Amino acid sequence: MSSRVYNFSAGPAALPEEVLSQAAEEMTNWHGSGAGVMELSHRSKEFVSIAEQAEQDLRDLLQVPDDYAVLFLQGGASGQFGLIPMNLLDGKSSVDYVHTGQWSKKAIGEAQNYAQVNVVASGESSGFNAIPAQSEWTTSADAAYLHYTPNETIGGVEFSYVPDSGDVPLVADMSSTILSRPVDISKFGVIYAGAQKNIGPSGLTVVIVRKSLIGNASAATPDAFNYQKQMDAGSMFNTPPTYGWYIAGLVFQWLKSRGGLTAMAEINKRKADKLYNTIDSSAYYTNPVDRDCRSWMNVPFICGDGSRDAEFLSGATAAGLHTLKGHRSVGGMRASIYNAMPEAGVDALIQYMEEFERTNA
Ligand SMILES: *Cc1c(COP(=O)(O)O)cnc(C)c1O
Repeated sequence: MSSRVYNFSAGPAALPEEVLSQAAEEMTNWHGSGAGVMELSHRSKEFVSIAEQAEQDLRDLLQVPDDYAVLFLQGGASGQFGLIPMNLLDGKSSVDYVHTGQWSKKAIGEAQNYAQVNVVASGESSGFNAIPAQSEWTTSADAAYLHYTPNETIGGVEFSYVPDSGDVPLVADMSSTILSRPVDISKFGVIYAGAQKNIGPSGLTVVIVRKSLIGNASAATPDAFNYQKQMDAGSMFNTPPTYGWYIAGLVFQWLKSRGGLTAMAEINKRKADKLYNTIDSSAYYTNPVDRDCRSWMNVPFICGDGSRDAEFLSGATAAGLHTLKGHRSVGGMRASIYNAMPEAGVDALIQYMEEFERTNA
């Protein structure tokens, strides 16, 4: 595997090499069953054991309380943008959203098809480089829920705290930060995440929802996306994304073997700190995000005036540091350093950045 590169893709993102190797070994014959996981019926005892183990491991990692359902669905985080209001409105007419960047903007746009959306705070005046203080949010007690995006994957802006939503259920799009550190699930009504950042392959969407919020979906909600129907069926109302579920399970075991989320938080913080330190201590690289809301997972930066970004990127690719190009809407660079990015990958990036600065600044 010496030809593997350090892959800084924002998503689909790198997976732990150990997980890929194990999946490769089991590809054609899972645990002596004579068939690969992709070929197993989702109702087979083999797949049911994979599914149950994965759910249990995720519950253990996040310490999910018993009064929460864990759903393994399809449709991506973007699917949830519409499914959240469909499942949670429960006759209410308004919902509260925090606008901190491009993903929350998309969530807001979709929710507007179903409800009156109050944008309770917006980072616009800071160019979305800061998160408005919670004391300034104009939340309302009769909103069906309060939605926010704990980590804006494109802007690299992350909440360092869980907002207090009072009695209003808190809903979080955790696509790019779930499993990066421990989190108190009991503070949330719903957490959802597309798998392809920090869980597993694309095609799987994890939804963790407080059971008391389930059962009020609007009549127009497709059955396959109705939280009640999926919870009652153990996420097998229809065929679930079986292979993604299996790979996610291998990732959960890998996380447990590394000491769980407390250990991951320590590693992730160290990786992010050293990268931001490199940027801040150089006069050449810049990251525009306020220090108290910089993402541990997605680190955008530019070189000097931005005119050498293309050169930086081609040199990086040649050095085995791939997919560092920033999102098409912002340009520059973005290093996504999820759980599966080894610390050695961040060290290699830092070394390359220092070398590039020496020869180009
Ligand atoms: C990637 C991402 C999405 C979109 O996920 P899909 O699974 O492609 O729909 C939504 N929200 C956040 C925060 C993301 O990082």
